[in-house]
Amino acid sequence: MGERVSVVDYLVLDDGEPYLVATACRGCGATYFERHNACGRCFGTSFERRRMESTGTVRSYTIVHRAAPGVAVPYVAAIIELDGGGVVKANIRDVEPEPAQVGLGMPVAMTTFVAGTDDEGTEAVAFGYSPAVAAAGKRTDA
Ligand SMILES: [Zn+2]
Repeated sequence: MGERVSVVDYLVLDDGEPYLVATACRGCGATYFERHNACGRCFGTSFERRRMESTGTVRSYTIVHRAAPGVAVPYVAAIIELDGGGVVKANIRDVEPEPAQVGLGMPVAMTTFVAGTDDEGTEAVAFGYSPAVAAAGKRTDA
């Protein structure tokens, strides 16, 4: 069996359930998913790693009908507001790419999927979000 590698370094796969890890500003708590030398909000320069929640809600989205060759369209690109703070850009999966099927404020849960496999069987794993009601083991009627 091949290895699994994450397509982005902020998706953690080797520690139980997959999760995202952000860079959080020690000064104001702002979170980022890419490396920062200084905080864009308070200009602080001290950061720590923070494990992010895997659930959230849709802040905004767009249905993409035109993309680079080889990219299947249409798909739903979204900005997800994570429970507990933080914002991440990702695609919404397991949903018909139609406006009636996606809504602002819709609860979603993170899912991972194999984006590609190389000749040695190493799987490149990416993440997206699915409607929370469709995500395995997730209930939103608590
Ligand atoms: Zn800050």
